[in-house]
Amino acid sequence: MKKHFIYQIIGAFILAIIVGVIFGDNSKYVQPLGDLFLRLIKFIIVPLILSTIVVGVTGAGDVKKLGRLGGKTITYYLVTSFIAISLGILAGIIFSPGTGTDLNVESTTTEVNETEGVIQTLLNIVPTNPIESLMTGDMLQIIFFAIFLGIGITLVGEKAIPVQRFFDGLAEVMYKITGIVMKLVPLGIFGLLTPIVGAYGLSVLMPLMKLIIAMLVACIVHAGVVYSVAVKSLGKMNPLQFFKGIFPAATVAFSTCSSSGTLPVTMKNTEENLGVSKETSSFVLPLGATINMDGTAIYQGISVMFIAQYFGTGLTFAQLLTVALVATLASIGTAGVPGAGLIMLTMVLTAVNLPLEGIALIAGIDRILDMMRTSVNIVGDASAAVVVEQSERKYDSVAS
Ligand code: ASP
Repeated sequence: MKKHFIYQIIGAFILAIIVGVIFGDNSKYVQPLGDLFLRLIKFIIVPLILSTIVVGVTGAGDVKKLGRLGGKTITYYLVTSFIAISLGILAGIIFSPGTGTDLNVESTTTEVNETEGVIQTLLNIVPTNPIESLMTGDMLQIIFFAIFLGIGITLVGEKAIPVQRFFDGLAEVMYKITGIVMKLVPLGIFGLLTPIVGAYGLSVLMPLMKLIIAMLVACIVHAGVVYSVAVKSLGKMNPLQFFKGIFPAATVAFSTCSSSGTLPVTMKNTEENLGVSKETSSFVLPLGATINMDGTAIYQGISVMFIAQYFGTGLTFAQLLTVALVATLASIGTAGVPGAGLIMLTMVLTAVNLPLEGIALIAGIDRILDMMRTSVNIVGDASAAVVVEQSERKYDSVAS
């Protein structure tokens, strides 16, 4: 059944390419299929995150374990993001995608919004009204609320058992719904990818081919080396088994360009195919979908190099270090929605005084880069779940 599903996904990819190439712009008529799928997975997210995190925290049993889980998860996320950005900068230096590229900056206009400062971004994590956070779907605020709900339930004990049971039940129901919606993944991929293949002719892609290839190579190297080493040495799992298990979620990320939107599928794959417990996955994955963006970090590194090369501005070592630090923060602050990384790029460009018009150079093909970076983003989250799960096992075996 699982093999069958992977074949269906690959079939959807191939069909999307064929139909997109043949019908060109007219392929947009299958877009509603893609939109339907997107809406279906998005409607699961808020109740899924809320209930699973509450269950995860109450399941952890004590605040100490929660602190340990959080510490490990965040350390893993920071280290891999930093490696990713360094790899991005390196790929930018090796491939030099911006030298010899001739583009007309004036021909494309992009709205550049100011990004909020770091302090405000951090303050925003604390919701003033959690119901509003649920309604607007603010992920970090929902995570914050859910963690505190879980801690509260644990501390109250007996009297809070009905509340705990409620979230337990809700989480089960949301998993079930996710299972039903997942059956539509191949259809969703076809509906989302076909119009993109149809819209992007070679003439749009050609001038930036070097950038696309640099990004592709860096993503493959990051996933192939960093995640393989991490899941093998720390997670005690065969990397091939890992990549195969997370493949459906990666394809959903590729076609939706949204880590948050992919979250229900990422959770399901991680638990069912990679054997990660609900306790770990329900804590590590929602957090990762919101703050851990290795693909976005790679993209920031390459893009900064690309823009610097295009405008003929050399970057000193100190500036490169600034890029690495700011881009790590920027990737944390990037929301798991399509195109968010492009907006956050302004933060990195500003930090090293590069012209913001650089954004316009990339905007035209950003969707293609977004597909790659979002896939890496969620595969990175899943690798963290495998690593954290394995490291928690020794505590569990001591406890039992
Ligand atoms: N689309 C990416 C994601 O959802 C974020 C980005 O634009 O870099 O993970």
